[in-house]
Amino acid sequence: MVDRLVNSEVNARRMANVEQCFGKMGEPLNQFGRVLVGEGVLVKMCRKKPKQRQFFLFNDILVYGNIVISKKRYNKQRIIRLEGVQLEDVEDDGGVKNGWVIKTPAKSFAVYAATSTEKKEWMQHIQRCVSDLLERGNKRAATEHAAVWVPDGEAAKCMECGRTQFNVVQRRHHCRNCGRVVCGNCSSKTHKIDNLKKKPVRVCDTCFSRLTSSSSGQDPSVSGTASSDNDQNPNDSSTDSDEEGNHNDRSMESRPTFYPEPQDETFPSSSNVHQM
Ligand SMILES: [Zn+2]
Ligand SMILES: [Zn+2]
Repeated sequence: MVDRLVNSEVNARRMANVEQCFGKMGEPLNQFGRVLVGEGVLVKMCRKKPKQRQFFLFNDILVYGNIVISKKRYNKQRIIRLEGVQLEDVEDDGGVKNGWVIKTPAKSFAVYAATSTEKKEWMQHIQRCVSDLLERGNKRAATEHAAVWVPDGEAAKCMECGRTQFNVVQRRHHCRNCGRVVCGNCSSKTHKIDNLKKKPVRVCDTCFSRLTSSSSGQDPSVSGTASSDNDQNPNDSSTDSDEEGNHNDRSMESRPTFYPEPQDETFPSSSNVHQM
């Protein structure tokens, strides 16, 4: 009984602390039944380059934000519902190590931990939260996930035609279906993608023909012409390119912390064991 109280009080304090660090711009996080499972710094692959982000794993959501002052102030809060999350391993490749992809219906992105142990810890904890959540809600895992965007820097040329060189005039665009970097010519059309927004989004020519051939008797309202602008990655706010919060020293204090499991109130027998 005491264990349970202490645990929930500790948990409430931890959650209040997270809320405080995000300040007024953050969502209220303290909800009945919500538990903070762990927290730490991960490098998130953004459109332009990898950036450090502070992550908080709760039993039902994953929250992350930009680091303004390490352990004190975060902003640009993002909240991902774990129900739709699927993890995918990323193999080590030269200097790029300890990564995995966090896939959700609306956005998917790669993150990197400092060590393989931290990667394993993060993945195990996230995975367990997702399975517990699905089990408890008697739901099935989401099957449709957003494409991971290829970072701009990885494509000097259009990945569709292989000819267009990107520069100030030839801007990079991302196909919302496959995530490749393509030129405007090769991504002039839009198509509706079920798990994303209701309105049609930019797709490359290859994906367009695949999508239109698979949906027979195509509704013209689901496809159209891509406007030249508005190539905003839902993964990246425009302010994501802010340099703020990217200067802290990783070696100092970024090891993730995972908290011991609080007593599960639906199984009072387990707390009896502790009282003996
Ligand atoms: Zn092209
Ligand atoms: Zn495509």
